[in-house]
Amino acid sequence: MIEIDWKGWKRALFDVFFPGDCPICERAAYLDEVSFACLACLDEVAWIEKSRCKTCGVGMDGMEYAGLSCKNCREFPPLFTFGRTMFFLNKAGQSLIHQLKYDGNKRILEDIPLFLKRVPGYLEFITGAVLIPVPSHPKKIRQRGYNQSAWIAEALAKEAGVSTVAYDCMKRVRNTSTQTKLDRSERMQNVKNAFALKDGTCLDGFDRVVLVDDVYTTGATLDACAKALIDRGTKQVEVATLGHG
Ligand SMILES: [Zn+2]
Ligand SMILES: [Zn+2]
Repeated sequence: MIEIDWKGWKRALFDVFFPGDCPICERAAYLDEVSFACLACLDEVAWIEKSRCKTCGVGMDGMEYAGLSCKNCREFPPLFTFGRTMFFLNKAGQSLIHQLKYDGNKRILEDIPLFLKRVPGYLEFITGAVLIPVPSHPKKIRQRGYNQSAWIAEALAKEAGVSTVAYDCMKRVRNTSTQTKLDRSERMQNVKNAFALKDGTCLDGFDRVVLVDDVYTTGATLDACAKALIDRGTKQVEVATLGHG
């Protein structure tokens, strides 16, 4: 009797209709069948697995830095207290962020459980906190149709089980220009007073507030959000991002 490789056929058919699905190598990614990106491609991501800055979460391999902050956080201490990030923005990490942020490829977040396995302590960090996505300006949401930080917060909360996502607590009151070409002080100026808490917002009763964003570059955006929260009485703000760089 001829044995039909149904799995293989299914995969082949799927690849015809949905080619180039892996966000990193852009080849069909269903060969692994357990992840959206290829597992081999996820190995290419520069995960922050060991020592890290306690304030922003950036990896600090090479020495035992446990409990210390990186040079950037020491020189320009942010208003948030603790932070975690998942990976450095090498080529593979950049592909993930780019597809999520600019192409609106939400399916990347299906691999969040795998991401969390590769970054020890991240899940524990967000568990029990209220997660606040860095808000997009309504104009940008109209253009793009989504806020990728809200997607990330939602995906993280799903894994953490008890975390709550406060989608509607903050707003971006100014539509800031793109920050890619700005240095740290220009970025700080660019996002100054760009965020505010919405009227009637009440975060009382939450012990921990964690701001969620896609990328940590200089920390200026997260710091501006932290300021808006602290000005309205939040005692401690922490930050969680996907990429750093
Ligand atoms: Zn791949
Ligand atoms: Zn740091």
